[in-house]
Amino acid sequence: MTVVTRFAPSPTGFLHIGGGRTALFNWLYAKRMGGKFLLRIEDTDRQRSTQAAVDAILDGLQWLGLDWEGDAVSQFERKDRHAEVAHQMLAAGKAYRCYCSPEELDAMRAAQKAAGQPMRYDGRWRDRPDSDAPEGVAPVIRLKAPQEGETVLNDLVQGEVTVQNAQLDDLILLRADGTPTYLLAVVVDDHDMGVTHVVRGDDHLTNTFRQIQIFHSMGWDLPRFGHIPLIHGADGAKLSKRHGALGVDAYRDLGYLPEAVRNYLLRLGWSHGDEEIISTEQAIEWFDLESIGRSPSRFDFAKLDSLNAHYMRLADDARLVGLVAPRLEADLGRALTEADRDLLTRAMNGLKQRARTVVDLAQSARFYVAARPLPVDEKASALLDEKGRSLLTDLAAQFAEEPEFTASALEGRVRAFAEARGEKLGKVAQPLRAALTGSTVSPPIFEVAELLGRDETLSRIRDAAGAA
Ligand code: GLU
Repeated sequence: MTVVTRFAPSPTGFLHIGGGRTALFNWLYAKRMGGKFLLRIEDTDRQRSTQAAVDAILDGLQWLGLDWEGDAVSQFERKDRHAEVAHQMLAAGKAYRCYCSPEELDAMRAAQKAAGQPMRYDGRWRDRPDSDAPEGVAPVIRLKAPQEGETVLNDLVQGEVTVQNAQLDDLILLRADGTPTYLLAVVVDDHDMGVTHVVRGDDHLTNTFRQIQIFHSMGWDLPRFGHIPLIHGADGAKLSKRHGALGVDAYRDLGYLPEAVRNYLLRLGWSHGDEEIISTEQAIEWFDLESIGRSPSRFDFAKLDSLNAHYMRLADDARLVGLVAPRLEADLGRALTEADRDLLTRAMNGLKQRARTVVDLAQSARFYVAARPLPVDEKASALLDEKGRSLLTDLAAQFAEEPEFTASALEGRVRAFAEARGEKLGKVAQPLRAALTGSTVSPPIFEVAELLGRDETLSRIRDAAGAA
């Protein structure tokens, strides 16, 4: 049997982080099993579905690197097929027409409420002939659900869950206007798409029992189900924006790499021993549905940051330049030149060692391409006092004579210079850092000087030394 999984988002908003995790689990499971991962857009709610949301979902999945097979299926476009199935069930005696008016249903519910009974449709049209139909009322089609016994779900994550059929009323399959309900559409689509494994949030668990009844009525094979617990905030409360309940696109804007987000989402609810850093290749080899945890996982930005820092160090330098370039251009208000990009590429290995996010990286790369005179932050300014400036003036003379403008040659020069002055290395290196970067933190300063080159290094030192 070929495993077929699917991700079935409703395009009523962005692809949020929980959706991203559901998609990832389905994608990984399909990859692991050599199966297929499909995408279905559940756009039957015409009022709330928007093209912008569809685009955001596709874009978010692409950014996460979760590719699906074939075209995304539009659930709305399959409405005729859904209606066809409802009519098949009607013809087979598995469903019936119900002519209750909204007022009648309201009265029924009010009576149930007053009697302290659970509010559910009482099946009053189950066995009534169509000849009883009131004039001019368009009926809905309801499932003739089993009234006795129980429906059992062997969930891959939750284990065995049982519901008494008496608790489930005859759900509507087709509305009076002929449109299918969500429950029917999902079952028909999962069946027609050959879905073998339905992995989704556990907020769908109650729907699943009703969907199983539809599968049974049609005599269709049941897929396996796995319901994943929701994601909570670090404090255990329901996930809110403050906790990280953002769209996947927000994570890109915050400067996270997709491979870091994938690793993070994987660990959010799934584990393989104590492994924290799991590459996508490794995940494909290890992923299984049985190791999904049963309790809600907690979203933790600090963990995401540390994973991101790890993947940044592994990332290709040219790729990172491509990621920081638009941020730097926006910041500097000009386009980067070829020379800037070349410099950044050479500098990237040093820069990426200490950045947590692409945002940090762009910030820390800025001094390389910023126009002179460099803005100097407050701490760095303090190092450029009279003494610092005079040291720099003398150092510039030495640098001008250095034939070999390499990090190691410059370091040798500065060490000898500091020693001759009876100063510690830091007393010279720190003002040098302030002059070259405008800050007190940067990649190793001699490496910075080498990358900037003699002319730029000397000009920056002179800017700083000359500054009153
Ligand atoms: N469209 C549903 C949602 O976005 C998912 C339904 C399903 O996975 O079966 O929550």
